[in-house]
This record gives sequence, C-alpha cells and structure tokens, in this order.
Amino acid sequence: MDFASKIRSIPDFPQPGILFRDITPLLADGQAYRMAIQELAAFARSLGTEAVIGPEARGYVVGAPLAYELGVGFVPVRKPGKLPGRTVAVDYQLEYGFGRLEVHADAIRAGTKVLVADDLLATGGTISATVELVRRLGGEVVGAAFLIELTELAGRQRLPGMKIKTLIQF
Ligand code: IMP
Repeated sequence: MDFASKIRSIPDFPQPGILFRDITPLLADGQAYRMAIQELAAFARSLGTEAVIGPEARGYVVGAPLAYELGVGFVPVRKPGKLPGRTVAVDYQLEYGFGRLEVHADAIRAGTKVLVADDLLATGGTISATVELVRRLGGEVVGAAFLIELTELAGRQRLPGMKIKTLIQF
C-alpha cells in the first residue's frame, strides 16, 4: 500500500514556512487506515506490547485502534486540566512552542510493556514527553509507532535505542 499518496501536504499551516502533513485523507480511506493500523500492530505484537499510550488528539487516531487490534488497553495522554483523576505531568518542547502533557497516575501498572503511538514523529518532543510519563509510572517502553516521520527533524535522535516503526517518511 502506498500510504504516502494518502497524505495531503498543506503549505504555511499552522504558520508561514511550515509544510503541514495532513493525515485526514488516509483516515477517510477505510482500507488504507485499516492496513496502516494492521502494519503497526504487527510491529507492536513482535515487541510483546501489553498497553498502548498516545497523546491527544491525533495520537488517539493511531493508538486507540492499535490497542483494539492488539486486544490491550489504551492510555490517553492529555493537555493540562482535562483528566478527572490524580495526574502526573511532564513539560516539553514541541515543534511550534511549549506544552505540558498529563496522564492518570494509576494508568499503567509497574512493569507493563508499553508501546507509545502518535500520528507523526517530528522533533520527537511530544513522544519523548509521553515516554517520560510512562517511565514515571513504572512502565517499560518497548517501542514507538507512527504513521509519518519527518526525517529532517531527526526525532529518532531523541529516542536513543528505541525500536521505532514509521509507515511514511518525508
Ligand atoms: P514533535 O513533538 O516535534 O515530534 O511533533 C510531533 C507532534 O506534533 C505530533 O503530536 C503531531 O501530531 C504534531 N505535528 C507536527 N507536525 C505535524 C504535521 O506536519 N502534521 C501533523 N501533525 C504534526
């Protein structure tokens, strides 16, 4: 499957000079979306994944069906103030500024093999923060899965030693 042909590139979004990679055409194509999730699921299975975690909002579009396909739980990571229970937070730098991510403090049992998932790997800031949250809760990060990797931004360098699967590279 030529997944790259299902990605739309939009110049100057969300600000001038940024070429935004839009996954909505891939999501709209049921067969392509399913095949993408199945390919990431094969990778996740090979790592013995016991839970999937992903940041809002596009991380859910990848992480939740991946968890469902694997028959394991999904842990939502959210922007500040959205989760109702006790949370753990991490501050991080992202491509377009700064941010903070939170997870429920009891979301992952210690020792659980966790796969981190998002739509796109750019600088690696978002996924590094997600990895940090898993580690703070005592989980073991076994790998990272994405639809897209922006190779020039070298996000992999922020994930040393990590097993990483991306379906499309730009
Ligand atoms: P990073 O933290 O720099 O790796 O940026 C990745 C995060 O920003 C992901 O959560 C993406 O959803 C979002 N992101 C950055 N660039 C793009 C893009 O071109 N298309 C879609 N999402 C993007």
